[in-house]
Amino acid sequence: MSHAILSASGASRWINCNPSARLEETMENTTSGYAEEGTLAHALAELKLRKYFIETGMAKRTYTSELNKLKKHRLWQNEIDSYTDEYVDHVRAIAMSFDVAPFIEIEKKVSFEEYVPEAFGTADTIIISGDRLYIIDLKYGKGVPVYAENNSQLMLYALGAYLEYSLFYGIENIEMHIVQPRLENISMFSIKVNDLLEWAETVIKPNAQRAFAGEGEFNPGEHCKFCKAKASCRARAANYFTLEALKEKGPLLTNEEKAEALQRGAELDKWLGELKVEIFSAIEKGEEVKGWKIVQGRSAGRKFTDTDAAVGKLKEHGIAEELLYERKMLTVPQMETVIGKKDFKEWVGDMVETIPGKPTLAPESDKREAISKRKSKDVFSVISNENNI
Ligand code: SF4
Repeated sequence: MSHAILSASGASRWINCNPSARLEETMENTTSGYAEEGTLAHALAELKLRKYFIETGMAKRTYTSELNKLKKHRLWQNEIDSYTDEYVDHVRAIAMSFDVAPFIEIEKKVSFEEYVPEAFGTADTIIISGDRLYIIDLKYGKGVPVYAENNSQLMLYALGAYLEYSLFYGIENIEMHIVQPRLENISMFSIKVNDLLEWAETVIKPNAQRAFAGEGEFNPGEHCKFCKAKASCRARAANYFTLEALKEKGPLLTNEEKAEALQRGAELDKWLGELKVEIFSAIEKGEEVKGWKIVQGRSAGRKFTDTDAAVGKLKEHGIAEELLYERKMLTVPQMETVIGKKDFKEWVGDMVETIPGKPTLAPESDKREAISKRKSKDVFSVISNENNI
């Protein structure tokens, strides 16, 4: 598959850290199980949307045969079917909301080369109706919620779609939606075409030119988390070891300094994890890493060499089967995975309650409402008790 140096998915990184694009080029490509799972979910969503909107005459047999091919994938889980249904339902609801059938494209490659050298991307769904252009993106990850607001990836898709279709449609408003079914996250953001074009001209164009030329300053931040250089990057490492803020001040840290230390400590913790992965793989490849080696981990327990034979022998010795087996119910999320989200919701959805999480510290950027704003004395007494205050 061809790959743009300045990809839409990496835009928040190369906008904030221009030289990262060329630096990434020098690094090995890796893929994760999560990425493969996402590709599988996108393939299924595309099949469903094609059948519904584009190839409306697709025979049931053809659809089933395509579906069965996807089901043979080693990462297939029934929940992929129900989660992609949620995305498809969202797209259908938008498409059905117009009096006249809208223009629809699925998995459409769009180019935004006018602003970003040699760049293109694939928009999951594009809908155009009247003066409105919709970009609807499926995010299959469940690690962190992704939001549509000022999302540079979606804005670049919107830019590409606008450049492609503005000749035929009087597009003035853009709606960007992210559907992230595994986190029950549907996020929307609207922008006027003029504002999008101004952003493209003043933010995208100059940063893209610098990034393409490999110029600009390395600038560590939130955007590092998806950078291929995240563990090896010198600028990022230096950032963790700069303690200027703590120098030449009084003997005790202020609350602001503690807050800053906590924030940086959390990032440092993640970075150390990434470093471990890189050093492990370097040693595995036979490279010398002074002071480190790979050893056998602690035993994960004991197991029978032949379980059936061992159980048989124990029974011969008069041990009752009930003593050897434990009947254990799956957890609610495990059952939902096995049964599929749709059926699970229909059959027992109203019998499920969510256990509230323990009060926890979160950075200001977290989307959850601060408990203090609810002015709940109960919650703070829980925090106090848990911390033995
Ligand atoms: S890790 Fe961060 S600072 Fe380093 S190149 Fe990547 S984005 Fe830039």
